[in-house]
Amino acid sequence: MKTLLHACCGPCSLEPYKLLAAQGHDLTIAFMNSNIQPRAEYDHRLATLRAWADANGIPVVEGAWDDVAWRAEAGAITAQGGPREDRCRHCYRLRLAEAAAWAAAHDFEGLSTTLAVSPYQLFDICHEELVAACRPYGLTPVWQDFRPHYPDATRESRKLGMYRQNYCGCLYSKAEAAAERAARKRQRAAERARREAELAPVRAAEEAARAQKKRDRAAYDAKQRAKKAARNAARAKLKAEAAAAASAPNAAAPGGASAAAPAPATATPAAHSA
Ligand code: SF4
Repeated sequence: MKTLLHACCGPCSLEPYKLLAAQGHDLTIAFMNSNIQPRAEYDHRLATLRAWADANGIPVVEGAWDDVAWRAEAGAITAQGGPREDRCRHCYRLRLAEAAAWAAAHDFEGLSTTLAVSPYQLFDICHEELVAACRPYGLTPVWQDFRPHYPDATRESRKLGMYRQNYCGCLYSKAEAAAERAARKRQRAAERARREAELAPVRAAEEAARAQKKRDRAAYDAKQRAKKAARNAARAKLKAEAAAAASAPNAAAPGGASAAAPAPATATPAAHSA
């Protein structure tokens, strides 16, 4: 079937294109997204899509970037305090109506959309709008749940180094996505703080046990050093005594006197006169 595949961006096109082509669809990609703001973001997403499509010989057609029409049709809903669901419904309606009109004018038989791969889109509302867009032209709405392939699309687009935006397209979605990220960050910080508070007594007990072990070790070491010093002092004393004993003269002679022997008495001959 000659099918026009409406694409919201390059990363979201990877899996739907692969799956539909494998089913025999003769595909052309339609980048018709007046919702994407600002214009530089629109250009970036289109360039990313084109780079991949050109490298794979996939034809791409581009719609008119009519942000005035988008604001009047969809943006005004949020500007007037309406719910996101209504804004997105009108956003899908505008883009898919443009794609359906183009498909009919160029003899296509079916219309599909890569929006069906993103878990962040409103799946049922998008389906309803695709069916409604096809009806006036007798086109076949090629609707499949591509969402189980979203992780593959994420992996593959990262591998290809594709630009991956962090918001759906309109400036409302940019603000909403930023608020959600901030809320998730706050939630993670609160969770970390809660876990820290839970673990604090355990960590304090562990720290006290470590400090006690350190003190015990220091006391043991001091005791060992004192014992060794006492042993060394005792050995030195014995050694000194032994040395003193060894250096004393005759100190070891058996029964000997300790001083010089007395000089023998000298007999003085008596004078004898006759
Ligand atoms: S969030 Fe996405 S689908 Fe919804 S209005 Fe904005 S660009 Fe459109």
